[in-house]
Amino acid sequence: MDPEEFRRAGHAVVDWIADYWATVGQRPVTPSDPPGTVAAALPTTPPTTGGEPVEAVLADLDAIVVPGLTHWQHPSFFGYFPANTSGPSVLGDLVSSGLGVQGMLWATSPASTELETVLMDWLAHLLDLPQRFRSTGTGGGVIQDSASSATLVATLAALHRASGGRWRDTGIDRRYRAYTSTHGHSSIEKAARIAGLGSDGTRAIDVDPDTQAMLPAALRAAIEADLAAGDVPAIVVATIGTTSTTAVDPVPEIGAICAEYGIWLHVDAAYAGAAAVCPELRWSHAGLEYADSYCFDPHKWLLTGFDCDAFWVADRAELIEALTVLPEFLRNAASDSGAVIDYRDWQVPLGRRFRALKLWFVLRWYGAEGLQAHIRSGVRLAERFADQVRADDRFELAAAHPFALVCFRLRADDDVNAALLASVNATGRVHLTHTRLAGRYTLRMAIGSPQTTATHIDDAWTLLATTAKDLLTP
Ligand code: PLP
Repeated sequence: MDPEEFRRAGHAVVDWIADYWATVGQRPVTPSDPPGTVAAALPTTPPTTGGEPVEAVLADLDAIVVPGLTHWQHPSFFGYFPANTSGPSVLGDLVSSGLGVQGMLWATSPASTELETVLMDWLAHLLDLPQRFRSTGTGGGVIQDSASSATLVATLAALHRASGGRWRDTGIDRRYRAYTSTHGHSSIEKAARIAGLGSDGTRAIDVDPDTQAMLPAALRAAIEADLAAGDVPAIVVATIGTTSTTAVDPVPEIGAICAEYGIWLHVDAAYAGAAAVCPELRWSHAGLEYADSYCFDPHKWLLTGFDCDAFWVADRAELIEALTVLPEFLRNAASDSGAVIDYRDWQVPLGRRFRALKLWFVLRWYGAEGLQAHIRSGVRLAERFADQVRADDRFELAAAHPFALVCFRLRADDDVNAALLASVNATGRVHLTHTRLAGRYTLRMAIGSPQTTATHIDDAWTLLATTAKDLLTP
């Protein structure tokens, strides 16, 4: 494909995406075909001769792929957490793909590294993160592919610290422990397992049954019990916005405990961190000055397409020391001078995409005010939905809704609630997911698509309320 052919095909693809976005709200949110439908519609072998026009691929996208998609950008997609994308994000990603640079070292693409460093400082400013995370001091930020990777990297740095630097050479030589609440994300246990802590290496700390937030006293008790048994507490992962309910762990109290015992504190704000672009929601970041590392996912709720996790450390030297490996073939004068950042030392893989570009496009297109408007719209719509639940005696709210997730259920047993979820999802008009709270089946309504309006919320509520009527009528 020469540049002129690319130009022509590229216009067709951009038109296709624009048409998709303009009409996505008219599609069923989820596919209904049985497993294997998409695979069966595809040839079993690749084409021998090339030259198929992009139009033919787009036609197959329309005929085969799109009907088999769950439409995460649909205004009535309310499952999991949102995975926003946006025009500027896609355009930034397109430029990144077109440039095709590798930013593993400063020397392999200086502008890629320097733009990322500046943008991470911009983001820190936007969220009003503590000064200790800024690259102008001892800290700094880096883009990871996901919050899961951020937690893994934090765990490795924590092991480096907890072992007094021996971990690099000796591996796991003691029983190291990770701590998170019973509502901490599964990626925390996975990171601990990958790091070699074993399947019992992660302590699940009890939460307050009313707020689902970690109990600091239970954390302290677990740490002291482990110390008494000769184990080494390595990392505590506190969550701002848990996956089940968006509970906010008491980071000030947890941070004070970590400081007392010299334990690495990682704060996982994968979903809710984006809320801190709004000053009125920054209460959720209280205590962050204790954190050794912090992350949030612009790819969830900040209009930046997957993948983009923003990860900061308070002391970049500790992270780099933990992860650096310098083979001869990567040696270069700039790295040797110590004057540049080599992001390969801040992550697990060597190679890295130029993800800062999509963030740059997003931040310049929306500005702080545009991003605040997006977050505030989600929060407002969640309040609207919660009011509807509250006003209907057959339903109850199952947790607080500080951000844009509403957990609710029918005042009925689990089977009825599961049937309600299955019924509304089967219509293809909405898509919600569920969790269990204190053992009880609970529906989750996660709002956050930029296309979602009050009408979509009201339609979803009407569908839920009428379906409930059918289910509850004997
Ligand atoms: N942490 C929390 C609190 C989450 O809610 C999620 C995903 O929903 C993750 C971590 C994992 O995010 P990622 O897919 O970026 O690894």
